[in-house]
Amino acid sequence: MIVLGIESSCDETGIALYDTDKGLLSHALYSQIALHAEYGGVVPELASRDHIRRIVPLLEQAFEKALLTPQDVNAIAYTKGPGLAGALLVGSSVASSLGLALNKPLIGVHHLEGHLLSPLLASKPPVFPFVALLVSGGHTQLMRVDGVGRYELLGETLDDAAGEAFDKSAKLLGLPYPGGPEISLLAEKGNPEVFHLPRPMLHSKDLNFSFSGLKTAVLTTLKKQGDSPSEQVKADIARAFVNAIVEVLAAKCALALRQTGLKQLVVAGGVGANRQLRAALNGMAAKRRCQVFYPELEFCTDNGAMIAFAGAMHLMQNPDAAQKDYAFTVRPRWPLEELTV
Ligand code: ATP
Ligand code: MG
Ligand code: FE
Repeated sequence: MIVLGIESSCDETGIALYDTDKGLLSHALYSQIALHAEYGGVVPELASRDHIRRIVPLLEQAFEKALLTPQDVNAIAYTKGPGLAGALLVGSSVASSLGLALNKPLIGVHHLEGHLLSPLLASKPPVFPFVALLVSGGHTQLMRVDGVGRYELLGETLDDAAGEAFDKSAKLLGLPYPGGPEISLLAEKGNPEVFHLPRPMLHSKDLNFSFSGLKTAVLTTLKKQGDSPSEQVKADIARAFVNAIVEVLAAKCALALRQTGLKQLVVAGGVGANRQLRAALNGMAAKRRCQVFYPELEFCTDNGAMIAFAGAMHLMQNPDAAQKDYAFTVRPRWPLEELTV
């Protein structure tokens, strides 16, 4: 079965073709980062308009790379939510029109499920069941994953997501948007002994997180350094921030592995690309004789491959999962727990 995947929930337009026998055939991606950078964050209306501009050329690219035509596709998967309503509507209306024109079934995919299953696209994938740490721009959750569509929420952030904490703290340090990768690079030049920031909820004994206080701690630390802190001071603060957030994430993953008795940890979402986090998780897992799995770097942030893959997995498991009509409905807010069968 060949599934076309369409992602347009936020500021990346992603298209991919996934074959359940041969794996990923092709994928094409356009990131609007440069478009939103001057505003310091994603502007929803600009995002929708740019998805409209990019989506058809990207579709053509993906088909060309795979040496396929739209008629070769067996089903069309698109991101149904959660995300920006206008942005989601672009992907869903293109999916519906293609489905209607080609007489192919549609499947609406949950964006976070796409992230969650993306490590299964790697050459050495984990096997169910596993613990998943989902760390993206909008979410921070620990889940127990027993199979496709079988997710149990173990804990989540009570306020900011990890990616949001990275981006907001980076902004405070004067770094460009999106700040996650920037603050991570700056932190590598920082001295870890200079500043110490709090580790929120490290000892809360549950699997929840809270990161908004950490961002405030970055702000107060920075303010104490006067009007124009040196690059080295900023790097030291960046290092303190990264160390704090990474320590909390790794400790909660260790607790989730202990509580569930599982031996595999899967990391998904944009922050999963973070080098310091990967080092900490690898160290933690080695001590516990557990294994950690990451998506390929290019599939950590939003992409069409994870949507094609998640759609294909659902259709393989249950052909009735396909939509009965071509009406396009999106779910800008859609709790992942609703998927659990
Ligand atoms: P969601 O999936 O929750 O709707 P999203 O799609 O915006 O949110 P992703 O695309 O998965 O999130 O990830 C983007 C986030 O990942 C941003 O906050 C970005 O700063 C962060 N990020 C990306 N690379 C890194 C990195 N190397 N270090 C830290 N953070 C990173
Ligand atoms: Mg993005
Ligand atoms: Fe995402």
